[in-house]
Amino acid sequence: MGKMQVVRVAIIGAGGGGLCALRHLMGPRTLKKTDGDGDHQGVQFEAVCFEQAAKVGGTWAYTDQVGRDEHGNSIHSSMYKNLKTNLPKQCMAFPDFPFHNDLPSFIGHEDVQNYLEDYADSFGILKYIQFYRQVQLVKPMHDKDSRYGLRWEVTTRSVLDPQDDGETDVYDAVLMGNGNYAIPFLPTLPGSESYEGQIVHSHNYRRPEPYRDQVVVMLGANASGQDIALELSDVAKKVYISHNKAHLQSRFPDNVKEKPGIERLDANYKITFLDNTSVNADSLILCTGYHYDYSFLAPECGIEVKDFRVTPLYKHLVNTKFPTMAVLGICKRIVPFPFFDIQVQFFRAVLEGSVVLPNEADMNEDTECDYQERLSKGRPHRYSHEMSGCMFQYLNELADMACVERIPKNYEVIYDLVAFQRKTDVMNYKKMNFALNDKGDGYVVL
Ligand code: FAD
Repeated sequence: MGKMQVVRVAIIGAGGGGLCALRHLMGPRTLKKTDGDGDHQGVQFEAVCFEQAAKVGGTWAYTDQVGRDEHGNSIHSSMYKNLKTNLPKQCMAFPDFPFHNDLPSFIGHEDVQNYLEDYADSFGILKYIQFYRQVQLVKPMHDKDSRYGLRWEVTTRSVLDPQDDGETDVYDAVLMGNGNYAIPFLPTLPGSESYEGQIVHSHNYRRPEPYRDQVVVMLGANASGQDIALELSDVAKKVYISHNKAHLQSRFPDNVKEKPGIERLDANYKITFLDNTSVNADSLILCTGYHYDYSFLAPECGIEVKDFRVTPLYKHLVNTKFPTMAVLGICKRIVPFPFFDIQVQFFRAVLEGSVVLPNEADMNEDTECDYQERLSKGRPHRYSHEMSGCMFQYLNELADMACVERIPKNYEVIYDLVAFQRKTDVMNYKKMNFALNDKGDGYVVL
């Protein structure tokens, strides 16, 4: 056997994505049934994960705090106190690490946090994480003597020490798991300067009590919008869900009403909708989503974010300009942990050389075809990373290219089942409990 070549990888963030990256680069290897001996293609990884927070978990590390933490950094977590997952544990889990049997199907954020801590512990990967270290700058540098002809300068600083000028180290590859739900997107709403009510983004929503007896308008009807509207309906006088989608199919409590998008805000707490009706609302909660943020990447990295689209990425993952850089989980409407699992193994195969990527032009053409296909199906530009309907097909394609196990079919079965329940009965679907049937190919409702 030839000499192993060491490949140094910098992983940014120790949320679900970063942990999964460490697990597959540094932990024991999962063997495909058809594999021989789990061939490493002569590559040995040395990964370091930089995490700005004190612990693993990312957005699942709930905090009551909003705004900035004691070190002056923006609060990262977008979890609210009573959140229950909108996916059942059966399709949330990493394929090689199930949730505890005694948990119900829909679980609290603390259960997911415990799960991620257990995952890190079980795979022995905590030792590769540098906590309280924030990545400040990532820069490519050509190096013809390196395996890939290019290396990355990664500058990090301690968030505990305001005087820290930072340290720069060199890596062969960079994998970004810095999360996509931390920088709120705040739409421009005409008249907002005259509105006296409170305007809050869902990133900063924590609990329902402050909204007791209020009239509240929620802008946006995606998962958080509907979920927060439901929990507010127990305490608020009235809740309006304002959105531009088709009429919501599910029944809601009697004090929750739908409205079209917002036209403008005015004095006297007035909110006018696109159908020219208006209400006087004490609070407006913006469930309007998040910006992608790669502000720590130097312009030479070539990554651009325009109107919710990140380019140039092959398979929503690999930087086509410099394929030793990848971004995890930027796609929407996915099962994030299994998604990371396949993306990480694909990227590992790229670094090992067992997946040979097309050239830059062909990768860009593939990306453009994917984008145009979405547009031709009537999806707006801002949904260019949305996976609804094609997620498992995408994951199977990557798994096959990387010669790793596909996500078990059960995941798809329960994902579709829950998507239907959520759409038609948002008030009750999280009360359901599922168990695998005797044949192991489907689920029964308990
Ligand atoms: P994150 O969990 O956000 O982790 C990113 C990490 O990177 C953080 O720890 C952060 O501190 C660190 N970081 C960021 N920038 C830097 C830097 N420059 N230097 C060092 N460290 C950095 N998913 C589900 O599967 N089921 C659900 O029910 C579900 N519900 C959700 C509800 C809400 C309200 C939200 C916001 C998300 C939900 N998700 C759900 C999706 C969730 O985001 C994913 O499950 C997953 O946790 C994303 O992991 P991540 O590693 O990409 O990002």
